[in-house]
Amino acid sequence: MIELKSPREIERMHVTGQFVADVLTRLGELADVGVNLLDLEHHARSLIAARGAQSCYWDYAPSFGNGPFRNVLCLSVNDAVLHGLPHDYVLRDGDVLSIDMAVGIDGWVADSARTVIVGTPADDDLHLVEATEVALAAAIGAARPGNHLGDVSAAIGEVARRYGYPVNLEFGGHGLGRTMHEAPHVPNDGRRGRGMKLQPGLTIAIEPWFAKTTDKIVFDADGWTIRSADGSRTAHSEHTVAVTEDEPLVLTSRPTGGRTTG
Ligand code: MG
Ligand code: MG
Repeated sequence: MIELKSPREIERMHVTGQFVADVLTRLGELADVGVNLLDLEHHARSLIAARGAQSCYWDYAPSFGNGPFRNVLCLSVNDAVLHGLPHDYVLRDGDVLSIDMAVGIDGWVADSARTVIVGTPADDDLHLVEATEVALAAAIGAARPGNHLGDVSAAIGEVARRYGYPVNLEFGGHGLGRTMHEAPHVPNDGRRGRGMKLQPGLTIAIEPWFAKTTDKIVFDADGWTIRSADGSRTAHSEHTVAVTEDEPLVLTSRPTGGRTTG
């Protein structure tokens, strides 16, 4: 079942979204050559605790994964793209780091991810990150009343093809609000004019992610970390978005500027 949110409920999700955005901004500033992934995780934990927010990841136990997740961030480096476990790893020059976080504040959830390149970026890595950001913007632009969910998905797939990246359909976006994962599923490719009609009050996380040269994935032995099957680099961008009567509202928008990516 899809629960449409009232403007007041969307405003509460916006409060959560702005906190998520602030944390991702801060983590993007901190992520640098020589920084340990665990430092980022612990910094996020302290910000979440200080705000009185609840991590949606902590104790998350889906059908995959070995036991409940015991971190507040997913940190995925290079060929890892989703659900990367924060671990004892020191970032190196040129690493591509995806940072993904979802929390609830007073019962309302927001979910967002960005990809940053640490140190000196390689041109083809910049191109990859840009593709996920352009795809995300295109998909957000399609999140309007009267459009269909397929228009959102197709917008992502069209950008991927334009940039020359294949698309995996196993993991994509999702509805959210009272919990992190609600209906509908938002695939990262689709057909225009298909799927449910979008209505004001629909809140979805849109999250294009691409690997350079494959649409196949493999799981690490930890059952969580998802990597490109061929070891090629990956990127991931995500925002929580509300369909409104007017323009789509990006609940996790971050101020632009600062870094060149993410
Ligand atoms: Mg996320
Ligand atoms: Mg998500």
